Amino acid sequence: MNIKIAVLSGDGIGPEVIAEALKVLEMVGQYTCHEFSLTHGLVGGEAIERTGSALPDETLALARASDAVLFGAVGDPKFDDPGLKMRPEDGLLALRKELGLFANLRPVMVYDELVDGAIFKPDIIRGADFIFVRELTGGLYFGQPKKRWTVPEGRRAVDSMAYSEQEIERLVRLGFELARARRRKLTSVDKANVLESSRLWREVTNDVARDYPEVALEHMLVDTCAMRILLTPRDFDVLVTENTFGDILTDEASLLAGSMGMLPSASLAGVPREVERAFGLYEPIHGSAPAIAGKDIANPIATILTLAMMLRYSCALPEEAGLVERAVARVLKMGYRTGDIMSEGKKQVGTKEMGDIIVREIAA
Ligand code: NAD
Repeated sequence: MNIKIAVLSGDGIGPEVIAEALKVLEMVGQYTCHEFSLTHGLVGGEAIERTGSALPDETLALARASDAVLFGAVGDPKFDDPGLKMRPEDGLLALRKELGLFANLRPVMVYDELVDGAIFKPDIIRGADFIFVRELTGGLYFGQPKKRWTVPEGRRAVDSMAYSEQEIERLVRLGFELARARRRKLTSVDKANVLESSRLWREVTNDVARDYPEVALEHMLVDTCAMRILLTPRDFDVLVTENTFGDILTDEASLLAGSMGMLPSASLAGVPREVERAFGLYEPIHGSAPAIAGKDIANPIATILTLAMMLRYSCALPEEAGLVERAVARVLKMGYRTGDIMSEGKKQVGTKEMGDIIVREIAA
């Protein structure tokens, strides 16, 4: 199988962590005989400096012609001036919109080896392993009307949480498909006691549930969910939710994993079924971390786990994805740590060494 991948490394630590993920991909290619055709493109701050655009036309064309996009991070303090017309982050937002990436998947996995260094009680978070599916192109962030105006009494503003049943259905269906392949539990998060769009969300979710009798569905109010994530995180398997709710809850949930450097994500434009391939953009959840860029200290694990998600959802290679994930787990068990997850008695390694050790484990 020949799989075309657009590689957009971006700014800051982006190129460093992507380099480690590509070492892993090369090893997976050798191990499995699949051919991965990689084409590199410009995005973010570097793209603005070299072409005047955070998302040059050639990069968008490259992404469209590929089976998946592997993305590092964008952002550079050089562009922090709020008066600037274009910022590196515009490149990522434009990509999400242009590629129709309607679902953001964020797995949260608490590794046994890291629970003791976490800010939460180990007994509560140990074994937590769930995945958020956040709606990414609709809801409160994009609904119309969305505007500001002035009346004699003062300034006013409105945002609208608007959804069509089609937008809800495709997102929820993706959640059910993921739950079917995992522990068969889906939590749909809404605010149906107050919001009309949430009542529609609940209705459509119940309709879709009829196609998935093997998956246990529960509805949960977003405020309850915000507490349950920290109190009983092991209870969750797959969660589906609206754009803004998801934005907030996924950041909260990411605290459980101990470091930004551990968390992967995927944004999909389709529903991956067992043998289908959905187009997706794959990126670690962290940003460009400019303060640690170029020092060989960034944790590449988030990006390597991101690569595993790409193998699973866009390349239809779930076994190879598992191979990478198990290698990461073994390396943590062996005691190797980058600075962000370091604890007493463990072996601290740099970005490149961590990548090399994971590659070695895949080959073992
Ligand atoms: P950040 O994620 O870059 O960094 C937050 C903190 O986590 C920092 O202390 C950083 O050193 C640490 N960190 C992040 N990734 C790490 C890794 N792999 N290993 C070890 N430590 C890691 O967020 P920020 O500092 O708020 O933003 C920096 C820049 O990145 C800004 O320009 C911001 O706009 C941009 N950003 C981009 C994305 C993206 O590309 N998707 C996401 C968030 C922020």
